[in-house]
Amino acid sequence: MLNEEQLELQQLARDFAEAELRPYTAAWDDQRALSDSVFEKLAESGFLGMLIPEEHGGLGFELTTYLTVLEELAWGDAAVALSVAIHNGPVVELLLRHGTDEQRAAWLPRMAAGEVLGAFALSEPDSGSDASSISTTAEHVGDGWLLHGTKRWVTNGARAGLVVVFARTGDDGLGAFLVPTDADGYVVGDREKTLGLRASETVSVELNGVRLSSDALVGDAGQGLRYALEALDLGRIGIAVQATGIGRAAIEHAAAYALERRQFGTPIARFGALQAKLADAAQRVAGGRALAFQAAAAWSRGLENGARLGSTGVTAQAAIAKLAASEAASFASDEAIQIFGGYGYMKHYPVERLLRDAKGTEIYEGTNEIMRRVIAGEILRDAGDENL
Ligand SMILES: Cc1cc2nc3c(=O)[nH]c(=O)nc-3n(C[C@H](O)[C@H](O)[C@H](O)COP(=O)(O)OP(=O)(O)OC[C@H]3O[C@@H](n4cnc5c(N)ncnc54)[C@H](O)[C@@H]3O)c2cc1C
Repeated sequence: MLNEEQLELQQLARDFAEAELRPYTAAWDDQRALSDSVFEKLAESGFLGMLIPEEHGGLGFELTTYLTVLEELAWGDAAVALSVAIHNGPVVELLLRHGTDEQRAAWLPRMAAGEVLGAFALSEPDSGSDASSISTTAEHVGDGWLLHGTKRWVTNGARAGLVVVFARTGDDGLGAFLVPTDADGYVVGDREKTLGLRASETVSVELNGVRLSSDALVGDAGQGLRYALEALDLGRIGIAVQATGIGRAAIEHAAAYALERRQFGTPIARFGALQAKLADAAQRVAGGRALAFQAAAAWSRGLENGARLGSTGVTAQAAIAKLAASEAASFASDEAIQIFGGYGYMKHYPVERLLRDAKGTEIYEGTNEIMRRVIAGEILRDAGDENL
């Protein structure tokens, strides 16, 4: 249940999406790029500092307020929402939870002001679902670090000023490193040509001997995988509301079209078969949103061991929310195309883009097979499985 202030912010974000995102989203998708000005406007509105505390220049939103705004941005443009979600979500979270005062002071005010966009580089060409198998290395040299390796599918990777890079620090695990993108040896590869979210910057990054000082390491040199998974719990709740925004947009477009389009002498909205599609899509999308807010409540209870693990802990709840909401978005946008009939299959109408965008939410920040694995793992842990 949103309070008065949250309802106002929801309306503000919706107005922003209506004025600054929706008119341009088809062109951005076509051109495979977001405009510089949209990032300036996001920064002016404070949307790049939503989870950054006020003392660091951000808006210091509660998680549910952030999620409410993010859903509206996704309703406007899913690629913008993905960019905002990665910047505000896992990157800021990692700095807040494990960064030093100096690291927070160095990066968070610039991130909140939109001077620096954040990115999160975990995946590699041969390491996706199994993040523990990454081969990028961080060698301890003098009092600093030397990074070598290749990262794949880095969202915001070309525009970002700060990338959190996960690298192997030795036999004892992974480290999380704050890498400024103007560092020597940080090389951005070609933009990927993606099915959906075509305006989003998905790039490969080469780390060709990137030299970092000791203060680039976040927290403990062997705990990076744990930090990444914690940050992804928050990230997945964000992706769940991104998916909810996509699904909602699909239902609204389909309903408007169904009232306008006439066949057999009547608006097609009068046909029960199409009403059932709208109702089923609405039920699933609403379910996904409710689960995202339930996961947010689990998150707000804290991330200490007891709150994170188990089938009611944040890890399972975030996975459940992302699973449900992403499948709901794909279902709703698929049914929206069906309601549009032949026109739905044409690029001139928005629903084909929504289906392409929705598919991405089933893959990034952990595929839905991995979400099911995480959920089942926590249920079995509750039942006493000692292998987990
Ligand atoms: C648009 C986009 C943006 C992205 N942005 C980022 C980003 O900013 N930063 C980043 O680090 N990564 C990013 N990614 C990468 C994304 O997180 C990975 O693609 C994802 O985690 C899956 O890894 P993979 O592609 O290597 O697939 P794989 O791990 O190779 O999986 C292939 C298939 O096997 C299945 N599978 C794997 N293991 C299991 C298992 N144990 N049980 C059952 N099924 C299994 C998978 O579900 C999938 O169906 C992005 C990806 C996309 C598409």
